[in-house]
Amino acid sequence: MEYFQQSILELIVDTSTNLPPDVRRALARAQLREEMGSRAALALDTIVDNVGTAESDQGPICQDTGMPTFEVHTPVGANQIVMEREIKAAVAEATRLGKLRTNSVDSLTGKNTGDNLGPGTPVIHFHQWERDDVEVKLILKGGGCENKNIQYSLPMEIEGLGKAGRDLDGVRKCILHAVYQAQGQGCSAGVVGVSIGGDRTSGYQHAKEQLFRSLEDENSIPELKELEEYVMDKANQLGIGTMGFGGRVTLLGCKIGVQNRLPASFFVSVAYNCWAFRRQGVHLNATTGKITSWLYKEGSATFANRGGISTDHAVVLKAPISEEQIRKLKVGDVVLIDGTMHTGRDALHKYLMEHESPVDMNGGVLYHCGPVMLEDESGWHVKAAGPTTSSREEPYQADIIEKFGIRAVIGKGGMGPKTLQGLQKQGAVYLNAIGGAAQYYARTVTGVDGVDFLDQFGIPEAMWHLQVKAFPAIVTMDAHGNSLHADIANDSMKKLEAFAAPVYQ
Ligand code: SF4
Repeated sequence: MEYFQQSILELIVDTSTNLPPDVRRALARAQLREEMGSRAALALDTIVDNVGTAESDQGPICQDTGMPTFEVHTPVGANQIVMEREIKAAVAEATRLGKLRTNSVDSLTGKNTGDNLGPGTPVIHFHQWERDDVEVKLILKGGGCENKNIQYSLPMEIEGLGKAGRDLDGVRKCILHAVYQAQGQGCSAGVVGVSIGGDRTSGYQHAKEQLFRSLEDENSIPELKELEEYVMDKANQLGIGTMGFGGRVTLLGCKIGVQNRLPASFFVSVAYNCWAFRRQGVHLNATTGKITSWLYKEGSATFANRGGISTDHAVVLKAPISEEQIRKLKVGDVVLIDGTMHTGRDALHKYLMEHESPVDMNGGVLYHCGPVMLEDESGWHVKAAGPTTSSREEPYQADIIEKFGIRAVIGKGGMGPKTLQGLQKQGAVYLNAIGGAAQYYARTVTGVDGVDFLDQFGIPEAMWHLQVKAFPAIVTMDAHGNSLHADIANDSMKKLEAFAAPVYQ
């Protein structure tokens, strides 16, 4: 297995940077369904632009390269100990090369291991099979969509849909609700892998395994094939759209599996994956470890490439931004940020609640982002820099805006009522950037002015001070109490309620 480690490295790099053709085709179909010039179409165009750049520059499609999860099939008797060691070495090397973000954090100390290795990281599942070759499949599923996974224990009452029983109709309600509750926070349009049955642990694992199916295959169980088609139709009528901006396409795929359960339990487990649906696979020669063929590579896709967010009527904001400038903005406006912005995620928000900021943020721009960064002799460079899910900062955000005089917060998925009130009171806006468009936004960074808390928090959580030029985003929460996210959540709940009547008797 001389080439095994190198082959795994190739698999990781390809998975992180090259979206599979079936996912591209699903995005291309979504593009065609959205009205030109709509928010959803602009978001999809940005996504498509980003997918192309990631492939040509071999950069991570999204800065959150997730929990590397390998499914490995080996011939009987193959040495899995050696394979595990080499997979881990390949993960560390891919991290060093900036193809994976440093994503493994000690849960007690908060310390980032820096190489994506540690207890439970990466995830590797070995299986034996009666074949002579080795198959390795990999999925990189980020935290934003992982946080939207959900498990239901039937029977139960589901908001908007009423009673869900221990039958296919109950399962139907769980899946529709799972799509609804994700809104734009898991970077819709998404894909759901669903497991009916199992226990709490095996249900989630089986749900994730469904994500290894092609988006274009057909379920071999007729009832589940029918249910998959039903969900695709109805979930796309919820009006959540790409990034939760509203629109005709909310779901790119639905894959349902079934396993036996205990008589006392009936779990429906849903693994929600964002549009950045990064999974690839290879077959390897079991003697040399060389790649003999790739999975998921059939066919190609043609995008309608219209170049990302239209900035023709955009408002340019440059820190320090005045209250007057902010109060002129309203939901739906496109803005372009020039000049300085500061990144900040969970660790920084908690810190700022109790301490002073190392830099003056008065009139400034705070970006919810955990970038991929590499350092060389000339300094730090941004390799991927899309937004992270903002709702995690809801407990802190309004206080931090007020304490430091921040005028613009950039993230994805929107924030809640406390932040909305804070924006109104202080004269600040929430700007939604396109989740996952990490290469697109990295291109707008013209320099790295410095970093604080790097040793303390690690690369993704550190406070990076970036210079940007024409960084585009859309106002989705303004200083007048308007929130596109609240509007879409209310509207999609009404649409969800229309699916409460039983379909399967
Ligand atoms: S596209 Fe969004 S949900 Fe997916 S990994 Fe990136 S930030 Fe997370």
